Amino acid sequence: MAAIVKPFWQSKTLEQMNQEEWESLCDGCGLCCLQKLADAEDADSIYYTRIACKLLDLGTARCSNYPERQKFVPDCIQLKPGDIRSYQWLPQTCAYRMLAEGKPLGPWHPLVCGDENAVHAAGISQLGRMLSETEVAEEEWENHLIFRC
Ligand code: SF4
Repeated sequence: MAAIVKPFWQSKTLEQMNQEEWESLCDGCGLCCLQKLADAEDADSIYYTRIACKLLDLGTARCSNYPERQKFVPDCIQLKPGDIRSYQWLPQTCAYRMLAEGKPLGPWHPLVCGDENAVHAAGISQLGRMLSETEVAEEEWENHLIFRC
């Protein structure tokens, strides 16, 4: 009888994954590239807006210059295994957050369903509903809140 082999995201901890495995956890939703606003009266509440980072390609929800993104957006945060459990600002559907919280990947995840567009078809991403920060003044961002994380 053949042994049942679990996929890496079920058999390894985040810290045990190699770079390729780690990068493949991103489902391409692009949500973490949306601007967020903090609640002045509740420091734990972070609100996502539909206003995207200037580097986000609004047609694909992917970074248009991923290798050099920190050159153009110095405060772009690089997710790392050791830090991931403190990233409470990540959306609840983010694969890194879900695995860190002991949850399974969602059915839309490319590693699960094999379809890179499923994240958009399932309505997890904001594809088609985003605006660039180059088009909307910062004082207007609060008019574009979409969810609290
Ligand atoms: S929110 Fe998570 S899954 Fe979505 S693009 Fe960002 S890192 Fe990838």
